[in-house]
Amino acid sequence: INMQLSDPSLFRQQAYIAGQWQDATDGARIAVDNPATGEVMGHVPACSRAQTLEAIAAAEVAQAEWKKRLPAERADILMAWHDLVMENVDDLARIMTIEQGKVLSEAKGEVRYAASFFKWFAEEARRIDGAILAPPTPGRHVLVMKEPVGVTAAITPWNFPLAMITRKCAPALAAGCSMVVKPSELTPFSALAVAVLGERAGVPAGLVSVVTGMPDQVGIELSTNVTVRKLSFTGSTRVGSILMEQSAATIKRLSLELGGNAPFIVFDDADVEQAVEGVMTSKFRNAGQTCICANRVFVHNAIHDRFVERLMQAVAELKVGNGLANGMTMGPLINAAAVAKVKEHVADALARGARYVSSPIEVDGCFVSPVVLTDVTTEMRVASEETFGPVLPIFRFDVEADAVAMANATPFGLASYFFTRDLDRAWRVGEALEFGMVGLNTGAISMESAPFGGMKQSGLGREGGHPGIDEFLEIKSFHMGGP
Ligand code: ADP
Repeated sequence: INMQLSDPSLFRQQAYIAGQWQDATDGARIAVDNPATGEVMGHVPACSRAQTLEAIAAAEVAQAEWKKRLPAERADILMAWHDLVMENVDDLARIMTIEQGKVLSEAKGEVRYAASFFKWFAEEARRIDGAILAPPTPGRHVLVMKEPVGVTAAITPWNFPLAMITRKCAPALAAGCSMVVKPSELTPFSALAVAVLGERAGVPAGLVSVVTGMPDQVGIELSTNVTVRKLSFTGSTRVGSILMEQSAATIKRLSLELGGNAPFIVFDDADVEQAVEGVMTSKFRNAGQTCICANRVFVHNAIHDRFVERLMQAVAELKVGNGLANGMTMGPLINAAAVAKVKEHVADALARGARYVSSPIEVDGCFVSPVVLTDVTTEMRVASEETFGPVLPIFRFDVEADAVAMANATPFGLASYFFTRDLDRAWRVGEALEFGMVGLNTGAISMESAPFGGMKQSGLGREGGHPGIDEFLEIKSFHMGGP
């Protein structure tokens, strides 16, 4: 297909291993579909375990040299990489829309967000400071030093094909680590395109490899190899738990960004306009396929009808279609399995007494119309499982404490949102919510400068912000005896 890129060399159908563009040793390939059309847009190599080992070996050699570079030099390369991504926003966004489905305006937003991590961590690279402790005993000096973890790996999902890679790779490189990336087999082309730009930015050969392929070859090697000291994963809680198990034998450091089940609470003193705007952003971005999407919307009875009426006006403005077409606001879901899950969740809710306030669900290929349900209750599947689609279930409540209790009644603890204009309530609820991220009067909580991550079964560690780089640093206490 003609992707209409201004720089066609950004579209690569080979893996980038040890500084070389490679096919799979046995020639095996994976076809990648455009979810909007069902067409095959291209192929990537199904790399073997041996090729993954080659990437890890190269990462070990490259890291030994990279960690000795001055932080300022590492920062310069990350800034060059940032600038190249920003110069190629349009092409990177087109590749992303075609492989992933999200509308072009959102894809551009993701590319800029992805670039922001290079900039942020380029800046952080120069502030990896240690400490000198107050002497614990006479003649003893203790220094606390920070060192790169070493060779690291990233396994990333399809819903943010670029940003989930840069959010890991930028801090790794800033800290002095190397990284082997396994992008999702559903969306490998964004990852390969950013690798092309990394090469141009001066990232040394072997420091970053992008190994395309399947979990049973690439994923298993990355999570069991003894040279890989740290694994950073974004994806489902199910796979996160498998990776934790696979990483156990070598006691790898882990960062896990897993599933969520975000509550979105609208109190009776909320600004309805603001709450509707917040829920539209949080729910329908990426057609509902984000781990921080509002999954359960709790609305106070006194404000319910007003909120629903205004919400339906906003929902009526959504335009579902091919993300490359002008004016679309919602693209297709990633594949047929995702569509089937959404249909099941809606059917289950209706069977248990929920009602449509939107039109009934319409499905055309991977396109799903936005659905709003009310009178949703906690025994329905939408209450306990991540729907990962454009379904907005509304629960009613009367008492603040009940809303907070329902919000917290989940094994997940990633994102949460609430809307109120009462300052006391803002503190009370903000502190009571057991989530790694809380949005008060906003539905947008992702930015490079703020830590991102979850509590409970939503994961381990934080990405972005100041803590983001700590995930790639070891601490060494250096005890100096002497006079
Ligand atoms: P999602 O459902 O969000 O795609 P998954 O958790 O299924 O998330 O997959 C995210 C990433 O994890 C993908 O790159 C996928 O190939 C990889 N993956 C899936 N299963 C495994 C596994 N058993 N071992 C290693 N990687 C895996």
